[in-house]
Amino acid sequence: MTLIPVNQYGDKILRKKAVPVQKIDPEFVKFVKDMFETMHNAYGVGLAANQVGSNKSVFVVDISVMKEFPDEKPRVFINPKIIDRSDKTCSYEEGCLSIPDVRADVIRPEKVTIAFKDLDFNDQVMEVDGFLCRVIQHEYDHLNGIYFTDRIDEFEQKKLKKELIRIKNRKIEVEYPVTPRERD
Ligand code: ZN
Repeated sequence: MTLIPVNQYGDKILRKKAVPVQKIDPEFVKFVKDMFETMHNAYGVGLAANQVGSNKSVFVVDISVMKEFPDEKPRVFINPKIIDRSDKTCSYEEGCLSIPDVRADVIRPEKVTIAFKDLDFNDQVMEVDGFLCRVIQHEYDHLNGIYFTDRIDEFEQKKLKKELIRIKNRKIEVEYPVTPRERD
């Protein structure tokens, strides 16, 4: 099992836009497998490549770990593009393996349509709603350098500021491997 250290709030790569994947090779397949292991080990339901040090445009999702979704399967989204968003929005409390112990309500579209490539590099289009849709939008944001904390109002952001600095400085206790603090 290969666990990859998870980048934490403030790490430069988490502000970078992902680069499209050109081909699926054994190295990439191994990386995706490692992403799942890293995510499962941390009890996460989603993980984007830049959270584990890669600029590749890929994220993984597995909500079957939650008791409400036992029939769900692990999913891989390569070169994803959200091509449609519902006007109707909803609010849900989110967390992030790169922002441990911080949670906040985030308003997002209730439904989205996402185009992506699967692990066989075939094109797929999926319309999603509910919790899966929430996780997909959160991970999709990562690939565009966006944290969920960017999407809350200024007042809420101010309340979290100290926490975010604490994470940046690695004054945190987490049960999974994280990257060391980056120099400014
Ligand atoms: Zn996240």
